[in-house]
Amino acid sequence: MLIYEMKLKGNTNQYRQLDAAIRTGRFIRNSIIRAWIDGEIKGRNDAYKYSKILSDNKEQFPWVNKLNSMARQAHAERAWASIARFYDNCKKKIAGNKGYPKFKKYQVRASVEYKTSGWKLSPCRKYLTFTDKFKAGTFRLWGSRDLHYYQIKQINRVRVIRGHDGYYAQFLINHTREEKKQLSNKQSGLDVGLNHFYTDNHGFKVDNPRFFRRDEKRIKKLQRRLSRTAQGSQNRKKTRNRLGRAHQKVSRRRNDWVCKLARRVIQSNDLVAIENLRVRNMVKNHKLAKSISDAAWSKFREWLEYFGRVYGVPVVAVEPAYTSINCSSCGAKVTKSLSTRTHQCRCGLVLDRDENAAINILQAALKKLSTTVGQTESNDSGESDLGSSPGNWGL
Ligand SMILES: [Zn+2]
Repeated sequence: MLIYEMKLKGNTNQYRQLDAAIRTGRFIRNSIIRAWIDGEIKGRNDAYKYSKILSDNKEQFPWVNKLNSMARQAHAERAWASIARFYDNCKKKIAGNKGYPKFKKYQVRASVEYKTSGWKLSPCRKYLTFTDKFKAGTFRLWGSRDLHYYQIKQINRVRVIRGHDGYYAQFLINHTREEKKQLSNKQSGLDVGLNHFYTDNHGFKVDNPRFFRRDEKRIKKLQRRLSRTAQGSQNRKKTRNRLGRAHQKVSRRRNDWVCKLARRVIQSNDLVAIENLRVRNMVKNHKLAKSISDAAWSKFREWLEYFGRVYGVPVVAVEPAYTSINCSSCGAKVTKSLSTRTHQCRCGLVLDRDENAAINILQAALKKLSTTVGQTESNDSGESDLGSSPGNWGL
């Protein structure tokens, strides 16, 4: 699956219609969650049926019918996906928050999803027209990507995304990418940390890019400014918008950087081992610096897995147990505080702490592979957001 993103240029009235479509998608999703809570929905098919009931009820919900029927289905699927995820978490007995489906509130950043109907690309592929009853009309597509390369029937979905700086269309293109790669005779374990973005088992370190710090400062400044504005004031609205735009810019830049890095790592290795960090817990951390690098790390991992599939390089995630404590040479436990940068073992091994951890990660991965052959994780669900940056796909 490839995702191309382009900006939609239209007029205020057209954007208002996109807003109405986005609102309707959210309405369908929330209504289904409500019906599920009330026990009226037990399965995916019930969710589909329920969206039909909503659209048939033109008296009470006249707007639902305006949204293209396959788009209505797509939002019923979204609702069911969040319910199914909850069931799944319960089954797996995940400790703590199981992700009970929540109602989506209004947010600037939101989207509506069309499948293969309800939209039309112009023959020159520079204009996108929405053909459902919201009548949003024709938008000019702005972006560096060229859709000419693909056939219309390869476009599975069109997602309209409202961001802080305008409206975007994401084209999800059915295209399985496979590329040839020479054997590099190299395998790498990567250890992530706050001091460096990662350290590998050969002692090679990649530093956090400077813009991580700069972005962090900028966001902090805007957050402070926001907290000083009066509740409900115009100024607050403006500042919140600026903060949203800043976040968006930051995550684009970050995504761009990790994408390129991940591709380089995959191209120069025959196997990559990483730690299976529970990113969802990590991102919740309130320390901004940590949350920025955690988010970067989780994107990095997604891209590693993506390019791993493209180039046929296994990406193996191992449980992060004792990777920084164990000695990679003799296996003895060498406890160290966070500030101890060197691993020093009685067996005589003296090594950079992160390098020692990276070796442990690689060894654990090889061990895991030797017992479970051929299991790589895949992440092909439509919920993934890999393409949130337009620059990502020019690989
Ligand atoms: Zn040792």
